[in-house]
Amino acid sequence: MKIEILTTGDELMSGLTQDGNFQWAGETLTWLGFDVAYHTTVGDNKEILKSVFNTAKNRADAVIVTGGLGPTPDDLTIEAVSNFLNVGVELSEPALEMMTERFRKIGRKVSDTNMKQVYLPEGSKVLLNKWGTAPGFSYEVENTVFFFLPGVPKEFRAMMEEYVIPELKNKNPHMKKSCQRLVKTFGLPESEVAQKLYGIERAHVKLGYRAHFREIHLRVSSSGDSFAEADALMDEFLKEIHARLGKYVFTTEGEMLEEVVGNLLTLNNMTLATAESCTGGLLSHRITNVPGSSTYFLEGIISYSNEAKSQILGVPMELIESHGAVSAPVVEAMAKGVRSISDSDMGIGISGIAGPGGGTPEKPVGTVFIGLDSGTKGAISREFHFHGTREEIKLVTVLNALDMIRQSLLNNV
Ligand code: ATP
Ligand code: MG
Repeated sequence: MKIEILTTGDELMSGLTQDGNFQWAGETLTWLGFDVAYHTTVGDNKEILKSVFNTAKNRADAVIVTGGLGPTPDDLTIEAVSNFLNVGVELSEPALEMMTERFRKIGRKVSDTNMKQVYLPEGSKVLLNKWGTAPGFSYEVENTVFFFLPGVPKEFRAMMEEYVIPELKNKNPHMKKSCQRLVKTFGLPESEVAQKLYGIERAHVKLGYRAHFREIHLRVSSSGDSFAEADALMDEFLKEIHARLGKYVFTTEGEMLEEVVGNLLTLNNMTLATAESCTGGLLSHRITNVPGSSTYFLEGIISYSNEAKSQILGVPMELIESHGAVSAPVVEAMAKGVRSISDSDMGIGISGIAGPGGGTPEKPVGTVFIGLDSGTKGAISREFHFHGTREEIKLVTVLNALDMIRQSLLNNV
C-alpha cells in the first residue's frame, strides 16, 4: 500500500512554517512499517489542489491531506475536493452538533463563517475533531482512500492516531506486526555509539540514529508475523544493545534523563537537594519538570556568589580562597552543605565557568566541577571541560549532573 502525504498552505510554501506535520507523519508511519511513497506540498490554490488530488489518486492507495479546513477564505480544501470529485457539499449533522456544543461551552454561537466548515463533500465520511473546531473527513475514489485533516499540528496528530492509522492497519491486514522502542544514550559521541554497534544489524530489525544535543537516540523497530514474534525479536535486540553500550544507555522507553533519575530515586526511596552556581537553577528546573518530583526533590539553592556559598551552604571561605570557587573541594562542600541543611539523602554541588568571560589559563571557560554527596560514601566530584556557548555549557553541565546521580543510584542498587 503506497501512501502519499499532501501538506497544504501558503505558509509552508513561503517557508514561514516548517512542515512539522509531514515530519511527524513520515516518521510515525515509516516506523509502523508503512510505505510512505510520495510527499507533496502545495499552496492555497484551488486549481493546483485539484491537480495534485488527481495525481495522488492515480499513484497512491492512501492519501493523507493536511490543512485548509478552517473558516477563512484561504481554506480551500473542501471546495477543491468538491471540484475534483464533481460533487456538491452537504451538511454533516454530527459535525454541526459537535461544533455547536463546543461553541456553547465557551458561550458563543456558531457563526456563518464557521458553518462553512461543517458542509462536507457529498458522500464523504466525517472524522469528528475532538481537539479543535474543523472536522476532518475521508473519501474513497477509485480504490484510493483520501483523508482530509486539519493543519493544526496537535489536531492533525490526534486525528491520525484516532482515525487514520487504525484504518490504514485495517486496510493492510497482512502487514507485518511491528514493535517500536526509543533507546537513549548519554556520554558517547555518535561515532562511538555507531562503532560499538557495528555489525548489530539483523533481519526484521530497523535501527535509526539521531543526535539530540549530547544524547544519541536510537529508534528501533522490529517486525514479525505476530506481535509476540516482533516483541521477542525486540527483546533480544535490546539485550545486545545493552551488552554493547552498557551504562551509556539510560532508557529503552524514550524517557528523559530526569525521569530516569526520578524513577531511580523513588525506587531507592531516596531524596535529593541541589546547590547550583553556574547552572543558575537549570538542574532543579529539569528535575521539577517531572510530575511527582516532590516526593524526592527537597530543595534547590542557587548559590551564585562566594558569600552565598559560605553563608547559606557553610562552605568555608578559606576553602574558596585557597582553591577558588570553581574547584573540587568547593563543589564537594556545596554538595555536603545542601545535603545537610535539607536533610536529604543525596546532595549535588555545581560550580563552573560558563563564559564567555571569566576564564583563566588554568581554568578556561567551560571548566565545571560537579560534586555529589550521598552520605555514607562521602562526597565525590568530577572535573569537566566543556565547549560551546554559555547556554550549551549550562545544559551539558545539567545533563552530566543528572547522569552522575543516575550512575551513583545504579551502583547503590
Ligand atoms: P484552521 O481551522 O486553524 O484554519 P486548517 O485545517 O485550515 O485549520 P491551516 O489553516 O492550513 O489548517 O493551518 C492551521 C495552523 O496549522 C497554521 O498555524 C499552520 O501554520 C499550521 N500548519 C498547517 N500545516 C502545517 C504543517 N504541514 N506542519 C506544521 N504546521 C502546519
Ligand atoms: Mg486555516
